[in-house]
Amino acid sequence: MRAAGATTMRTCAGCREERPQGELVRLAVVDRAPFLVPDAQRRLGGRGVWVMPERRCLEQAARKGGFARALRRKVAVDPAALGELIAAQLERRLEGLAQGARRARRIAIGADAAKQSLREGRARALWLATDAARREGWEREAARAGVPCVGGADRARLGAVLGRQAVAVAVIEDEGLARAIRQVCDHLVGLRDATGRSNEEPRQPMGQRIEGEE
Ligand SMILES: [Zn+2]
Repeated sequence: MRAAGATTMRTCAGCREERPQGELVRLAVVDRAPFLVPDAQRRLGGRGVWVMPERRCLEQAARKGGFARALRRKVAVDPAALGELIAAQLERRLEGLAQGARRARRIAIGADAAKQSLREGRARALWLATDAARREGWEREAARAGVPCVGGADRARLGAVLGRQAVAVAVIEDEGLARAIRQVCDHLVGLRDATGRSNEEPRQPMGQRIEGEE
């Protein structure tokens, strides 16, 4: 991490822990329901509240009064709905960052291009789909190149963000973009737990098939 002056610290409205600003998301206070709107790019003025983009923190802030304190009034905030709003905004931001990387030609998309970029020392982060084949191999290559691995999207999602069908791996070749994309992906990972899309789907008994479905 570069020493660009002192790191601004913020207190999470949920768990009350103090963290570097980049690890939290800002919510701006608005007059009407839903009273709190995500301000991922910190462009909205006025009062705001900071929270870690994680299930437990959103829930704690709603339950224990962290949001109410910021709002200076008692209103019911639905942490799941708020999590969805934040995730939607982060997804848009991710698309914007990916488009920026493509326009600036600072992203190598696909296995061959990614390998070449790693080999030539241009890589600043490896963006690896959660369902990529031979993930461990890629993780080793990233470690060898000394670059962080960014997760948080499957091949379809990564493809959509990069304007392709499905993408397993991409290399980001710009330091600032790599940092920004990594941060948004980290936040999305934390929030996906928050919005109920867990991986605890009911499992079908082994060896049994539902007939009549193809
Ligand atoms: Zn927290």
